Amino acid sequence: MERSWRTAAVRAGIDADTAEGAVVPPIYLSTNYGFTGLRAPRTHDYSRSGNPTRSHLADALAELDGAAGAVVTASGMGAITTTLMALVSAGDTVVAPHDAYGGTWRLLDALARRVGFDLHLLDLAAPDAVERVRTLVPVLTWVETPSNPLLAISDLAALADATHAGGGLLVADNTFCSPVLQRPLEFGADAVVQSSTKYLNGHSDVIGGVVASATAEMAEQMAWWANCLGVTGGAFDSYLTLRGLRTLGVRMAAHQENAAAVVDALCAHPAVERVHYPGLADHPGHELAQRQMDGFGAIVSFEVVGGEDAVAALVDGLAHFSLAESLGGVESLICHPGSMTHAAMPPEVQEAAGLRPGLVRLSVGIEDPDDLVTDLVAGLDRAGACDESE
Ligand SMILES: *Cc1c(COP(=O)(O)O)cnc(C)c1O
Repeated sequence: MERSWRTAAVRAGIDADTAEGAVVPPIYLSTNYGFTGLRAPRTHDYSRSGNPTRSHLADALAELDGAAGAVVTASGMGAITTTLMALVSAGDTVVAPHDAYGGTWRLLDALARRVGFDLHLLDLAAPDAVERVRTLVPVLTWVETPSNPLLAISDLAALADATHAGGGLLVADNTFCSPVLQRPLEFGADAVVQSSTKYLNGHSDVIGGVVASATAEMAEQMAWWANCLGVTGGAFDSYLTLRGLRTLGVRMAAHQENAAAVVDALCAHPAVERVHYPGLADHPGHELAQRQMDGFGAIVSFEVVGGEDAVAALVDGLAHFSLAESLGGVESLICHPGSMTHAAMPPEVQEAAGLRPGLVRLSVGIEDPDDLVTDLVAGLDRAGACDESE
């Protein structure tokens, strides 16, 4: 029977156990599976190539993304490595965002030299991005929208058209959104990659990833490479991630409601110079975000008056935000990209990418929104006082 993604997330694998009738599918920790006779393997033979627990998660994630198939990997970077190995060869042209996730940038940069492909890092949210992609005729265009940490929005459908015009493929890293907020395959992307470490699992206790592909042929290719590279996900991690996935819908709703409350408080505070959130009417990507997203998400960044000293005053004393990297868990996090997630970028590169010293990124959790706002406003009051004392 037809089912919506909400039902799929809750019911994936439920009642699938034929041995005992367990409602929740058991974890298959076994590394190997007996053949029923010579030349007669069962569905699974070895857990790197295939594992029943991992299959439940992969099937659920494929269904949520509207994909032909998905492969679950041991990390988001494992999913990205799988994708690049499957799609890129020596001499190819690859386009990626100039503000890609740091690990993605590092891998692309290292592989471009080792494999020998031409890597073009562009601002994929800029007005001329689509035309530049069309002119470059890439084999692969990599896109992340919203971008990190400035939440710039790129046009998925236009980038897919421009890439397909030259015979290339579009792959979207959808980690910031999850399929609840954005399904890139619907806009013409050929594959979607996610770090399930973030919203999909949602409890900050599993490192994992997934590649979901538009066609069965590509899904097969991705699964082949993940197995070949040895980066497929473990059974216990898959079990935990499937458990996390069951509440993805209600979590994303709570995350977004809290983010809206936090954005209101930030916009009203005199210590805040600028708020970057695609839900704000004056955000340059607001209309595009309305078209291609089903909500604006719960990653918010903003700039405090007074630079890094003010950031120190803000974070020192917060009770309900942990000063930590990562995102997408039920707990709220605060991060200073300049000295944390983006520290590998030299100051002049940060400046060029628009990362000013007073920039702060929040991953808004699902705590009581009043507690979050009270805590943040007290922190901003400290930041403001610090600026006046200078
Ligand atoms: C965290 C993250 C990754 C990497 O995923 P891991 O699970 O840490 O390997 C890739 N892309 C984005 C956008 C991320 O936030």
